[in-house]
Amino acid sequence: MAADRYQGRASRAGDIRRLVVLGGERGAAAGAGKVWLVGAGPGDPDLLTIKALKVLQGADVVVHDGLVSEAVLALAPGGARRISVAKRKSRHAYPQEEINRMLVAFAREGLAVVRLKGGDAFVFGRGGEELEACRAAGVDCDVIPGVTAALAASAAAGAPLTHRGAAQSVTFVTGHARAGETPDLDWLSLARANQTVVIYMGLSNAGDIAARLIAQGREGSTPALIVENASLPGERRVLTTLNQLGAAARGLDGPALLIVGEAMAMAAASSPPPLGEGDREAVEGAPALLQHRRQAGAPFPGFAGTSPKGGRERVPSPPPLGEGDPEGVEGAARSAARFAR
Ligand code: SAH
Repeated sequence: MAADRYQGRASRAGDIRRLVVLGGERGAAAGAGKVWLVGAGPGDPDLLTIKALKVLQGADVVVHDGLVSEAVLALAPGGARRISVAKRKSRHAYPQEEINRMLVAFAREGLAVVRLKGGDAFVFGRGGEELEACRAAGVDCDVIPGVTAALAASAAAGAPLTHRGAAQSVTFVTGHARAGETPDLDWLSLARANQTVVIYMGLSNAGDIAARLIAQGREGSTPALIVENASLPGERRVLTTLNQLGAAARGLDGPALLIVGEAMAMAAASSPPPLGEGDREAVEGAPALLQHRRQAGAPFPGFAGTSPKGGRERVPSPPPLGEGDPEGVEGAARSAARFAR
């Protein structure tokens, strides 16, 4: 079975504490080692794929970036060597070239190398460069997809990235730019209504990004959701509007996504409530939001906008249940009871 391919290799983990010379001759025959480029997901280890878990459990060496949570790293064998190549915005702890060389060198030593990256390796993860380096060196490299932060953030908030009538497409963009610059994006197309724009690495440029979108015609009242530490214990969500996005981003220090689009009006709850009591609230709030959507006219007439104080607002607790949707309420409560058992 496939698991055998990944497991049973960890026993050699002890060997790798010896010196591995980086570099070496290009094109030299590769050993029996291999590189797995693995998406570690947004942080919650339960969001790893089963395949990622199997590979991780068979790793001799784990080369990881700063977004990979401790909880995920703990799933590697105790004897596997863990190497952090964390990048920071201001400087790279390891230049990309050096990471590439390291992966190739370990694989040539015959090791099972897991290159573990936050989210998905091919979404703003520079996974393509590492794959190319392996290919150029003749090193076997497989890519295992991960749950990218946008998927975890929207799922936890209950705000879909695409939604009939409100978001016909979703675009992932980077908000990262050199200090004082705005990223070079197709602002006109991103400013069209009824689409979701997810901005990675955009927290420090949030004000500029919002201004660009508004300048190109996106309504200032468009809902915008900021999600910090999606799927992690410290997850925070702030629902605001495009007008207030810059102000709302201040004080957060990430990692965080900016998600702009009409469907973000569905974001159902603030920072996740404590388990137990909070489950009930979240379930009960959902039908009330559904009710907003069912009203005729604009898709999200219930969207309340931002706080008058500086524009930053935790998403308020769901409104009290109305008469409108008893079936939905009961249905949700029944499902919740089943789930709780
Ligand atoms: N490969 C990653 C993205 C790496 S770029 C992925 O697929 O998710 C780094 C950016 O990703 C951060 O600046 C932030 O915008 C976003 N990000 C990563 N993990 C996140 C998390 N748990 N919560 C919110 N944003 C996250």
